[in-house]
Amino acid sequence: MKTLNPRVSGTHGETIHAAFDLEKVRQEFPILDQTVNDKPLVYLDNAATTQKPRQVIQAITEFYETVNANIHRGVHLLSQRATDRYERSRVLVQKFLNARSSREIIFVGGTTAGINLVAESLRRHGISSGDEILISGMEHHSNIVPWQMVCEETGAKLRVIPLTPKGELDLDRLDNLLTTKTRILSIVHISNALGTVSPVKELVKAAHRKGALVFVDGAQSAGHLKVDVQDLGCDFFAFSGHKIYGPTGIGVLFGKEEVLRELPPYQGGGDMIESVSFEKTTYNVLPYRFEAGTPNICGVIALGEAIKFVEQIGREFIEAHEAMLLEYATAAIQDVPGIRIIGNASKKAGAVSFVFDEVHAHDVGTILDQEGIAVRTGHHCAQPVMDYFGVPATVRASFGLYNKVSEVDALISALHRVREVFGL
Ligand code: PMP
Repeated sequence: MKTLNPRVSGTHGETIHAAFDLEKVRQEFPILDQTVNDKPLVYLDNAATTQKPRQVIQAITEFYETVNANIHRGVHLLSQRATDRYERSRVLVQKFLNARSSREIIFVGGTTAGINLVAESLRRHGISSGDEILISGMEHHSNIVPWQMVCEETGAKLRVIPLTPKGELDLDRLDNLLTTKTRILSIVHISNALGTVSPVKELVKAAHRKGALVFVDGAQSAGHLKVDVQDLGCDFFAFSGHKIYGPTGIGVLFGKEEVLRELPPYQGGGDMIESVSFEKTTYNVLPYRFEAGTPNICGVIALGEAIKFVEQIGREFIEAHEAMLLEYATAAIQDVPGIRIIGNASKKAGAVSFVFDEVHAHDVGTILDQEGIAVRTGHHCAQPVMDYFGVPATVRASFGLYNKVSEVDALISALHRVREVFGL
């Protein structure tokens, strides 16, 4: 695996930014080596989920073949081994996010689970009818609905930072929306529907000035940018393992220790307690207080492998490689007659959304699939974004570290095929 490190591998003609042996990296992903409808698979649906490298797949097999046991409660060797590996992953995640302490790292099912945990815990902590919760117009449904549920139950008000026609946050409206009534600002780091990168640091500073907490939905950023939660200054940050080359069903919630300490537990059960009696139960220390029940042990260990994999390549290289692909794809897509790009923010990462005004996105997706190209079509769980731009759906191409320029070229040829089929 050492040869994957771009600093020690040879240059590759396809990347314009750095020495990065793309073909070698691709060989680590067995799934990529197949044909779809007799065409080589071109996987451009990475914002939905990423493919898994061999070392993650092997970690899963190895866990069940040699380690499997429940954690924390056993004195026998397998249990100790499983516990060690589980806790080692926590430290890997801590370093990956540059959190101050591993007590700030809570394993959850995914980004959605992390948002629900904080929303529900804050509700119990006492959100009331005078309070406001601030989100933005480009949130994934996962960062809308849990807060709406809190508002419905408590009478708090949901407020929304609107978008501009470029698909950026309209920060001119922030002063009116972010007030001393705001309990929490919950904001997406990178929009999955538009690719817009939010100015998180600036928003955190503004929110903290008003005494509000800040939750960052990092589902689309953790695998694409170097994330430093201390630098961002946010109180919470969540991401999903499956979007950073790890398995499904596992994710991370970072919470600042001093904030987590104030919050009541979310779910009750094993592991989150210190002692239980019918009269009184006391709760465990952080982070276990928020990890009730047997967790996804194998998922946590495999997520640790995914993080090691990403770190071996280097997030700065991944970011530069994907930025190159995005720039190349954006220019090429713009040149296809009849196509309109949705979302032209000055800072974008990972994904480009577009429409043919005369062809439904699903029809485009079906023709692309016939050409072996996997993209996502639909509302991308961001219906308010579709409403804002007045489209029912978009086609979204989203990039991962293994994508190549020739795959973008294949996408463009297939888009010309769409034009032919529809006589455009
Ligand atoms: N937020 C954003 C921005 C996302 O892109 C996604 C997944 N598409 C989620 C939240 C939810 O992630 P998960 O389904 O893994 O919980």
